[in-house]
Amino acid sequence: MSLDLPTGVERRRFDGRGRLATRGDPVYGEPQDADGWRAWDAGRSKLGAMLELGMDVGLVGGEGVLYLGAASGTTVSHVADFAGPTYAVEFAPRPTRDLLSVAESRPNLFPLLKDAREPRTYAHVVEADLDCIVQDVATRGQARVALRNRQFLASDGRLLAAIKARSEDVLDDPETVFENTLEALREGYEILETQRLDRFHDDHLAVVAEPRS
Ligand code: SAM
Repeated sequence: MSLDLPTGVERRRFDGRGRLATRGDPVYGEPQDADGWRAWDAGRSKLGAMLELGMDVGLVGGEGVLYLGAASGTTVSHVADFAGPTYAVEFAPRPTRDLLSVAESRPNLFPLLKDAREPRTYAHVVEADLDCIVQDVATRGQARVALRNRQFLASDGRLLAAIKARSEDVLDDPETVFENTLEALREGYEILETQRLDRFHDDHLAVVAEPRS
């Protein structure tokens, strides 16, 4: 199932089954076909799972993107394959080193060794009025991170966030954590769609939101 996929994301056949794919250098051992399309593994990517589940993420291709929690580049590499300028924030040095290699063949990907809770430390680098923030930080205070980075979004931009329940509270019921997180997000965002990602990622809620005026 899918709505329109962004330009630059296609469903291609790998090992006899249709899978999402983008075109670029392989990053994490994913298969690549003879035309240069590489499979996008939704089991390793929350944004990939959102697309697989047919969520209306509002991406058409070519967007300016701020990606929070880039790790070693599994998902952000696919994003940079179809998006425009892609700023990738990650605060752990080790994965950021891998991210630098991923960026070598992607001139539109800008790795930033920064803390997503401190947007003032990268505000001089990241352009304003971006089309999209993708957030997958798996840390306590995920709503706060989204609210602090809202300043980079255009008024009609989108927040695409994966909320990990256990990062907020390992013991609390995930549904309660999600409700509390959505309530906190509403301070700065209007929630457009939510969906549990459990088919691909346990105890994660995907959120599509737009900034409140
Ligand atoms: N989004 C990645 C992907 O799909 O390829 C996986 C991200 S992993 C679940 C979460 C990442 O967020 C980790 O690499 C972690 O170091 C990073 N992270 C957590 N808190 C952060 C913060 N405050 N600022 C920047 N990165 C953070």
